[in-house]
Amino acid sequence: MSTTPKEFAFDVVVVGSANLDLVATLDHLPKPGETIVALGYAEHAGGKGVNQAVACARMGARTAFVGCVGNDDAGVFLRGVLENEGIDTTMLRVVDMPTGRAFINVDSRGENEIVVISGANTQVGIAHDALVLPMARVVLMQLEIPLTTVRNALQLARRNGALTVLNPAPFKALDAGVLSLVDVIVPNETESAACGGTQALLDAGVKTVLTTLGERGVVINTHTSATSIAPHQVSAVDTVGAGDAFIGALSAELARGATISDAAAVGAVAGALATTVRGAVPSLPTQFSVRSAINK
Ligand code: ADP
Repeated sequence: MSTTPKEFAFDVVVVGSANLDLVATLDHLPKPGETIVALGYAEHAGGKGVNQAVACARMGARTAFVGCVGNDDAGVFLRGVLENEGIDTTMLRVVDMPTGRAFINVDSRGENEIVVISGANTQVGIAHDALVLPMARVVLMQLEIPLTTVRNALQLARRNGALTVLNPAPFKALDAGVLSLVDVIVPNETESAACGGTQALLDAGVKTVLTTLGERGVVINTHTSATSIAPHQVSAVDTVGAGDAFIGALSAELARGATISDAAAVGAVAGALATTVRGAVPSLPTQFSVRSAINK
């Protein structure tokens, strides 16, 4: 049962990217100048914004997505994916640029190479008068949209009394002007190192740093404490989507009023379950499967 106060129209608002992922399965990755024929091909919904919005919604959060797609089939497809998950798309704008795309080549050993065309994602919060965020308990962002939009959305979220959660991925340098507006930052180990480490983030004004350590679980750091959340034991088959599942469950639990360590513990179970299914969106667990795993 949600304990979210009535004045918040949504539990979580995600301001982020929406991509169509085009995945070619290959025997080997092409060398410069080489043309090869793919063994298989598939298209999926992607972008860290979409993935994390779906993760929140599957965890039972009333979720809205703020983003941009183009006036094309990929945009229609992505809107449909979000709406099928019960996510509010009132603030998913159609702009005069192609929908974002990620061209993903995967070889027989699982090695990959990815080319992202940002397209419409470059327009999030930019090409209209002012960024408007619906009232939400939690505002969740990543770094696949313009940094000025991230800063504006963080400011707006603070003004509206929302808790701000930032996944600094893919890494971009963030100044204290941005970081001091972040309540909870969630880097993985690589992103944490790129940000200068936990202490640098705390010194810049972030209140809580949650560092995800893959199969080693999660560390929670504040100015006054450091605690660990043990991993949930699973047989992993594909770690894609683990971080998104963790952040979605964390944000949904924070919106319900959970403490950060309780929310991170639920997130760790969601992240672990995501590694038991291939792909990103298909692997994001439901609230039912996460609660079942916790109660086992
Ligand atoms: P990212 O996908 O962003 O690199 P991580 O790999 O750190 O994120 O995964 C996010 C969280 O998911 C971890 O902190 C952990 O709780 C859980 N997780 C990921 N991989 C495993 C695993 N092999 N076993 C158990 N839990 C995992």
